[in-house]
Amino acid sequence: MHVFNFATLQLKTYLCPFNLKRKKMNKLLIVGTVAFDAIETPFGKTDKILGGAATFIGLSASHFNLQSAIVSVVGDDFPQEYLDLLTDRNIDISGLEIVKGGKTFFWSGRYHNDLNSRDTLDTQLNVLADFQPKVPENFKNADVVMLGNLHPMVQSSVLDQMEVQPKLVVLDTMNFWMDCALEDLLNVIKRVDVITINDEEARQLSGEYSLVKAAAKIHTMGPKYVVIKKGEHGALLFHNKEVFFAPALPLEEVFDPTGAGDTFAGGFAGYITQSENVTFENMKNAIIYGSNLASFCVEKFGTERMVELKKEEVNKRLKQFKALTQFEIELS
Ligand code: AMP
Repeated sequence: MHVFNFATLQLKTYLCPFNLKRKKMNKLLIVGTVAFDAIETPFGKTDKILGGAATFIGLSASHFNLQSAIVSVVGDDFPQEYLDLLTDRNIDISGLEIVKGGKTFFWSGRYHNDLNSRDTLDTQLNVLADFQPKVPENFKNADVVMLGNLHPMVQSSVLDQMEVQPKLVVLDTMNFWMDCALEDLLNVIKRVDVITINDEEARQLSGEYSLVKAAAKIHTMGPKYVVIKKGEHGALLFHNKEVFFAPALPLEEVFDPTGAGDTFAGGFAGYITQSENVTFENMKNAIIYGSNLASFCVEKFGTERMVELKKEEVNKRLKQFKALTQFEIELS
């Protein structure tokens, strides 16, 4: 009898606090927007609330045993309480520039009824337009670099400043940058190990409708690993001819998907940073951790759910994930 254990999660290192205490802390450098978002979903509407790719990545990665730092920019309209929220989670914000008299990046979006697609209503780059990132000295040797969504030239500049080659560089981006900075985007994509991208964006970037063909084409652009996020339909990991699929947890309530992709990326990069293992096998686990954390993000508006999220809830849901994907089948 062959036993298929579809979810070979090594939960032990995550669940056991003693293991965590013994480990030295690896470093994760995060780049991305720190933003104000205004969101409309079929369930309600927000004024300007805390958002941004780096914010969601940082909150998600804070569930792992690691040191993290955010490189980004905000204006002096950005409230101190939001900065405190990041530092309370041990996220180093010495690389988060605050521009005097400047306005923080603003994004506004409206979700369709299926919550799987949305329209961007407004993107105001504000202080991001002239941003020159500065990597903090003590993160120039970060083990993993998570290049979250923002201008690809900023992403490249961060890589230029690294003094030690990171063990893994992960890049997330979106159609906005494909539309307005494609050449710069292709230049940074060349330099990364993993790209995380949603299905629509994978199709736009590759010009291929089939996601298998799209992943193959994106491989040729540079990344050895291509992660295609499919919202409530899970995520695919491609590496050469190998493919792994992780479902999304079927949830009773999905309230606001904003930041789910970044939360996924933060969980993915956070787990890899903590585990120091950049193999395809370990990336399968990273995808599960990312999907697990993202499943919380969508339950409330913006960062609300991630801010209150407890370790016990994360662990409980990881067990549900394992049960969801585990089956035994007899092959003759
Ligand atoms: P996600 O739902 O994972 O795609 O991420 C949504 C977050 O990305 C929001 O909090 C926005 O502030 C941020 N965002 C939206 N558009 C952009 C953009 N063009 N560049 C960088 N970040 C963006």
